[in-house]
Amino acid sequence: MEFGDSSLVSETKLASFKRVLEARIAETERAIADAEQETRATSARHADSADQATAEYERQTLTHKAAVARQSLQQLTQALDRIRQGTFGECAQCGNDIEPKRLEAIPWARYCLKCQELRERR
Ligand SMILES: [Zn+2]
Repeated sequence: MEFGDSSLVSETKLASFKRVLEARIAETERAIADAEQETRATSARHADSADQATAEYERQTLTHKAAVARQSLQQLTQALDRIRQGTFGECAQCGNDIEPKRLEAIPWARYCLKCQELRERR
């Protein structure tokens, strides 16, 4: 079935991006849960340890890991929302299509290559 040219990305492609995103979300949620559990375990392990520097370092590493995971979870969820809203594949900055190759590599990309580069340079 053909849906015409109105959608940026074909329905088949969207379905496969959706699967990729959902799998990633599940993976990321697990990573967050793991990091949280590990943080608690680390705190317990070092509760009466003399080596508070190591404990602090481990806690910070885990906190950072969880923060990174939460951030990517947010990006993934937003990408799923864009699929639902029909704006997936559209650059949030200039409104042009995001390069198909870029979407294949990073389905949660919000910006086209040009805008992304401009943002990173800022
Ligand atoms: Zn753009």
